[in-house]
Amino acid sequence: MQDREYFLTIGGELERAANNGTVLNPATEQMIAKFPMASRQQLDKAVAAAKSAFGAWSCTPLAERQHRVKALGDVLNENKDELVELLVTEQGKSRDGAEWEIGGAIHWCFEIAKQSLEDEVIEDDSGNVVVSRYTPIGVVGAITPWNFPVLLAVWKIAPALLAGNTLVLKPSPFTPLCTLWLGELASRVLPNGVLNVISGDNDLGQWITEHPDIGKISFTGSTATGKRVMQSASVNLKRLTLELGGNDAAIVLPDVNPKEIAKDLFWACFANSAQFCVACKRLYVHEDVYEDISQELVAYAKTVKLGNGLEPSTQLGPLQNKIQFEKVKDLIEATRQAGHQFLLGGDIPSGDGYFIPVTIVNNPPEDARCVVEEAFGPVLPILKYRDIEDVIARANNTEFGLAGSVWSRDIEKAERIAQRLQTGTVWINHAHQFSPNYAFGGHKRSGMGIENSLHGLAEYANIQTVIRKSRD
Ligand code: NAD
Repeated sequence: MQDREYFLTIGGELERAANNGTVLNPATEQMIAKFPMASRQQLDKAVAAAKSAFGAWSCTPLAERQHRVKALGDVLNENKDELVELLVTEQGKSRDGAEWEIGGAIHWCFEIAKQSLEDEVIEDDSGNVVVSRYTPIGVVGAITPWNFPVLLAVWKIAPALLAGNTLVLKPSPFTPLCTLWLGELASRVLPNGVLNVISGDNDLGQWITEHPDIGKISFTGSTATGKRVMQSASVNLKRLTLELGGNDAAIVLPDVNPKEIAKDLFWACFANSAQFCVACKRLYVHEDVYEDISQELVAYAKTVKLGNGLEPSTQLGPLQNKIQFEKVKDLIEATRQAGHQFLLGGDIPSGDGYFIPVTIVNNPPEDARCVVEEAFGPVLPILKYRDIEDVIARANNTEFGLAGSVWSRDIEKAERIAQRLQTGTVWINHAHQFSPNYAFGGHKRSGMGIENSLHGLAEYANIQTVIRKSRD
């Protein structure tokens, strides 16, 4: 991988840039590879290529577009093992985690390729026919974060292409390599200019959101950046889909079997080293089972192996980058300074790599930083509650509204609580089940719009109403 050169893909051609950035392996802090930092002129060139490809692509029959989206899945599948290895190396996640992500990206291509947006006949009587149809928007600017760089890119690429748009995609500067390679692979199965992949720093993201020839931005990242995206996208009233941060609550009712659910709860909180927009970040446990759940969770956590993702036994990897590592360290330090008790973790090992051991905080107050902030790292507050109304209010008392979960043997009761959570997704007795056919999106400041499902596909289209009167 060190020997490989990574290119921009613009108009079907591979390009270098005048300047390069470097990507580090977060488990070793060693450089993996250089990557091109696209200039503003190269962005203009990529947008021009996407614009010029739009005419033919938007008129390509749906069946052919579906075939090409599936072909993208095929080419990813053919290169799956190398992509998994590269993803582990640049993102830091475990091999199992990388297999889940790349396997998911392939699955998404295959399943989105089966979707379509059908015309809707609104009226059809005595010579008056009214039809609502979906028309592609044009050039889509897609911007992705570093936690699931491949899967989240495909969540944008597949529906945008299927709906007849062309794309300019920019990965995070922390994890550009798999995405640049995906661009190269995609150029083997897509017409030139339909998918352009360019890397650079945050400025490149801002230039994309301001670009007058881009008609829509699909952005996944933090709420703070999402607000900036919305502001700069206003220059030409771009359509927007924003998938942003979260501070998900899980509510555990007193009727659960702590031993039985501890493992699933653990992964709901710590999968991908908790660098997961929908990680459970506040675990509310009824006082009757608080001690048992805490003990079982700590006991299970002690069996989980933290290490370099390339080692087969590793289950949790490091944090992805130094900035995030320092943020989470600061949060742990603030928790210690405030006098809150750690049930597990809290100490950062010295040595190479951005490793933070699983850290569990014992019933801190509701206004503690580790409760209020999105940690985006393995720091979990467990919070005690007695009254169900109180816990629903506490779960909803956040600016975020991404997802949440309820854990109980009483499904009807859990369902009633789930319906009162102000979040885009609620899982009952599990977490993190996604599908190309499930609508996914955030309420409140966790985002705007939907990804996946026909609702997500429709966000890559304008609605056109055709009102026809016959004259015979
Ligand atoms: P980030 O907002 O720092 O960066 C995301 C992307 O935006 C990167 O590609 C970055 O280069 C680019 N960017 C930065 N400044 C920009 C600007 N001014 N204009 C346009 N683009 C700009 O987020 P991150 O640290 O990469 O990711 C972590 C965040 O993403 C967390 O808050 C997490 O919850 C969120 N996230 C949300 C979802 C979701 O589906 N809701 C999924 C994954 C991650």
